[in-house]
Amino acid sequence: MALGTSSTRTDRAVTIRELLSSGERSYSFEFAAPKTEKGERTLWDAIRRIEAVRPTFVSVTYGAGGSSREGTVRATDRIVSDTTLTPCAHLTAVNHSVAELRNIIGQYADAGIRNMLAVRGDPPGDPMGEWVPHPQGLRYAAELVSLIKESGDFCVGVAAFTEMHPRSLDPESDTRYFVDKCRAGADFAITQMFFNAEDYLRLRDRVARAGCETPIIPEIMPVTNVRQIERFSQLGNAPFPPSLAERILAVQDDPAAVRAIGVEFASEMCRRLMDEDIPGLHFITLNHSTASLEIYENLGLHRRS
Ligand code: FAD
Repeated sequence: MALGTSSTRTDRAVTIRELLSSGERSYSFEFAAPKTEKGERTLWDAIRRIEAVRPTFVSVTYGAGGSSREGTVRATDRIVSDTTLTPCAHLTAVNHSVAELRNIIGQYADAGIRNMLAVRGDPPGDPMGEWVPHPQGLRYAAELVSLIKESGDFCVGVAAFTEMHPRSLDPESDTRYFVDKCRAGADFAITQMFFNAEDYLRLRDRVARAGCETPIIPEIMPVTNVRQIERFSQLGNAPFPPSLAERILAVQDDPAAVRAIGVEFASEMCRRLMDEDIPGLHFITLNHSTASLEIYENLGLHRRS
């Protein structure tokens, strides 16, 4: 029997594909798997606060190794059993053979997870280091999408990049390989964080011109402290606006003012995106719900029934 069809826990689960095709805009939040007991408490505090605003779904990232990976399975399992939320579990191909990947997909299925985000992952320790696939593993995310799809009735999301993936040679091949992931069966995509709504719109146009209609959900990450300016700039795949950096640096000794600027900037970008026909918004929480919920409130979304 195919995975993902036998568990009674799957009966109550709804797929993100169904939620998106209902025509309603999706609002979702991303958490990271905790590595410590304290981290677990912080995560669950954030999950409970997010649950109260009834998001469309929540996702849990998949770490580079060890405890954080087990944490993803545990956290998504508990989201199914202890909350009213629809979870989406991330999965990467890093350091996994195909047999191990099948096993994890099976664990997700047993936990009642119907939604997965299939991302290739980066070399542990150095995201820009050479990507070496596991000898019995997979090379690209498109292969992971196929593996999950042939394992059962899962809804699968993939990653998209507004500029292009930092390793891509040019926008044309980046778009072509993105479309390959969609043709392999991806039901939706979520972008990398970005800071200019026009960048998202250009990506969407580029993908549409390639004949692909897979819904692409923009990912939103509010800047909440000064250190993030450097970190986000180093990521290099979504330019950090110099004017925003300037405004933040002007109040760098006042953490509340820094946060307020970051939240207002993200809220404004969301408003601009919502004027376009976006399928949803996906908020990175870093397991602290406050900033994302402030944006949610600024957008008037907390009043959704
Ligand atoms: P791929 O789609 O495989 O692309 C990787 C590169 O290979 C691209 O340059 C692509 O153009 C190129 N390529 C693809 N197919 C081919 C081909 N056939 N021939 C030649 N080149 C090809 N990382 C984690 O470790 N855990 C997470 O939970 C996680 N969650 C994420 C969530 C989102 C929304 C996003 C945007 C990223 C996430 N990442 C996560 C990061 C992601 O793993 C990295 O960005 C990774 O480098 C690329 O993943 P991908 O799925 O886009 O890879």
